Amino acid sequence: MAASISTIESGSSSSHAIFRPVQPGNWQGCYHCLETIEFVPGAGRTQVTCKTYRDGTWLQVEHYHPDCYAESGHPTYVDSAA
Ligand SMILES: [Zn+2]
Repeated sequence: MAASISTIESGSSSSHAIFRPVQPGNWQGCYHCLETIEFVPGAGRTQVTCKTYRDGTWLQVEHYHPDCYAESGHPTYVDSAA
């Protein structure tokens, strides 16, 4: 599974998050609570997809429930997907 990035103490890390609808058959797990971000028909659920960068290099992609993303206090800015 994904390694923790909490050990990163220096360097210019940043991230870029996008809210978008959960797709049917989604298997991706939430990086915060580790549960699968499930598609629920008619529920209009969204997920947060967050690309993280460090020193200008793409590091990884993290997925979150919107609530988990807020709880994680992730230092980022957010664009709303159209
Ligand atoms: Zn979660």
